[in-house]
Amino acid sequence: MTTVSDARQAESSRSTEEFWNLARRHLIRYGPAGFIPSIIERAEGCLLYDENGRAILDFTSGQMSSLLGHSYPAVVETVSRSIATLDHLFSGMLSRPVVDLAEALSHTLPAPLRKAMILSTGGESNEAAIKMAKLYTQKHEIVSFDQSYHGSTHAAGAATYSLSRKGYGPLAPGNLIIPTPNPYRPVFRDGTGAHDWRAELDFGFAMVDRQSVGSLAAFIAEPILGTGGLIAPPDGYFAALREKCDERGMLLILDEAQTGLCRTGNWYAFQHQGVVPDILTISKTLGAGLPVSAVITSDEIEATCSDRRFMFTTTHVSDPLAAAVGVTVVRTLEERQFDAVARRLGERLRAGLLDLQSRHERIGDVRGRGLFQGVELVMDRETKEPADDYGTAVTAACFELGLHLNIAQMPGVNSILRIAPPLTISDDALDSGLAILDDALAVARKRA
Ligand code: PMP
Repeated sequence: MTTVSDARQAESSRSTEEFWNLARRHLIRYGPAGFIPSIIERAEGCLLYDENGRAILDFTSGQMSSLLGHSYPAVVETVSRSIATLDHLFSGMLSRPVVDLAEALSHTLPAPLRKAMILSTGGESNEAAIKMAKLYTQKHEIVSFDQSYHGSTHAAGAATYSLSRKGYGPLAPGNLIIPTPNPYRPVFRDGTGAHDWRAELDFGFAMVDRQSVGSLAAFIAEPILGTGGLIAPPDGYFAALREKCDERGMLLILDEAQTGLCRTGNWYAFQHQGVVPDILTISKTLGAGLPVSAVITSDEIEATCSDRRFMFTTTHVSDPLAAAVGVTVVRTLEERQFDAVARRLGERLRAGLLDLQSRHERIGDVRGRGLFQGVELVMDRETKEPADDYGTAVTAACFELGLHLNIAQMPGVNSILRIAPPLTISDDALDSGLAILDDALAVARKRA
């Protein structure tokens, strides 16, 4: 009989060719760009290692999640301890890590955000937030930006517009959009040609009011849009959006899956905008590589929903292991003051990217905050024609040279390189990533 360890040994000694043959035979393909043709054997800190032992700098923190780098010692210790002592429970049972995490999160947040529910993924947290907003307002319409990304699940997917909605049949009814305020590509301009985001917002809500059946429940937004193109709405925008919501009795849900927990130089990106959401969702960064998410709201919203028998009993709600990881992540961020670290490293990254822009004419725009920045590539700075093929070539050249960047690699939006390394990255590693990008921008010019 083959034992588990015999089987594992046989699997790890498979040839590369055999690996890819088996992958083709047994895996469902799910992404727009397919799998990167490299077997990742190991990850540590900011580095990944492929089957040939080649090191690759991870400028996407995995899928935007590994905020502390890979296998951060305190996270390894937490997982090892929890899996051995308190892993998973009946959804109606509580354990100490869940209460510890809810309390720890409330210390990082302004009033009235102090009630939390601990879940696993980003889509799931938005699903729960939207359900709460519907139950609380007793309405059902959900508004979002036309470049939004909130997840692949039903309600979160219905509020997502940055990826194709086609081919899957009906989505939840009552989903509406307003234009994404994009300072680099403004659609609404004032007499001087500057972005007139107020007119854009007024226009968006005029359209919403026309389309609404009188049941506006909530607006869900990313404070800096990630998948839609790393777009940071202008200062003042979210305060004005908040007013539009208040006028209509809508809740404001902010989805900080990518921006939450120090990455942008503040604990939360909404703090840069001076607004407080009614419901906040955090996910990717909370688990720093593991599936941990949270929905956080006020006493009042929580109490009303509870009175109305709010139901979200998933298999992994309030899982002790996930919560314990969240506690370790939040405490580590606090102890090592990673908000300040992200601000400092963000300035270094910005300076490096602006230097590249001064030497590479196809860099049209550099934007973002802290360690969450984007580079938009264009064929020509005047016309701003997107350079999608060039972006694909730059991303590929970076990988060949030992750097993984570009969070949402897919045809049509590859002209925007998205960069979000772990907050634990050293100055030297950040500089070497920038040097590789410099070379890749030149190499790719010969190809696209
Ligand atoms: N919200 C945002 C802003 C995201 O970027 C993502 C993931 N890309 C999600 C939600 C969905 O998270 P998950 O994939 O964990 O469901």
